[in-house]
Amino acid sequence: MKKAILLISLFLSGALLAVQPEADTGLETVTIDNKVIQVYNGEIGRWEETAGQSLNSLAHRFGTTVKDIYRVNRGHVSDDYVFVPMSKDYYAELLRSGYGRRILQVDPRKLIWPVETPNRSSGFGNRFGGHHNGLDFACPSKTIVVAAMDGTVIRSQWMGGFGNAVVIRHSDGTETTYAHNTKVLVRIGDDVKRGQAIALSGNTGRSTGPHVHLEVRFENIPLDPEDFLQYGLARPETVVRERLEDQPGEASALNLQDK
Ligand SMILES: [Zn+2]
Repeated sequence: MKKAILLISLFLSGALLAVQPEADTGLETVTIDNKVIQVYNGEIGRWEETAGQSLNSLAHRFGTTVKDIYRVNRGHVSDDYVFVPMSKDYYAELLRSGYGRRILQVDPRKLIWPVETPNRSSGFGNRFGGHHNGLDFACPSKTIVVAAMDGTVIRSQWMGGFGNAVVIRHSDGTETTYAHNTKVLVRIGDDVKRGQAIALSGNTGRSTGPHVHLEVRFENIPLDPEDFLQYGLARPETVVRERLEDQPGEASALNLQDK
């Protein structure tokens, strides 16, 4: 009898272990670029329109130097947008003023949403007698579009019906496309991080209103992005913002317990 009880309790504890979520959730902490704080080539700064602003004045405003602007952009500063790295003081001031980026805990195998407030306006599948190869998110023009997953930029250019588009290749062999942008920011060959700004959304190419068209392809076959995206990221209660004491690039050290 004792043996039977022991066996039952062993069985029960085994069953409990099986259904309980692992203590280590396996989630990954990701910081999502916003309108004022962005990352490029591993540095914190912001993409700025160069029209009407000299590099000198930009550098002065962000507490950096023209030399550093050239360095971060790897010499590409003739474009209409340039990434301006910001000083620690400037960055700290932005955090103090409440402009900190969203910090999310995500399933590392899933894509994050390419825009902050995803307003799903059209799904994958048959539409208007044709096939819609992606998922659309309606958003105002010039909304920050972020990489859904780490990867390497393989296209960042005008792509006909896609307008100004970015294509990123990921380590699992899938590729994500972000179409109809006003402006693409990253360059071919850039390694990008999940949550990093890659474009400013828009209405270019074959598009009937400002939106981001997201495609997921594997061996050039379009797949339904909804099968790859994670849910719950738009819920305000899950949003934690980076704070002054958070060190950039040290995501694992972030204290996510108290907001
Ligand atoms: Zn679309």
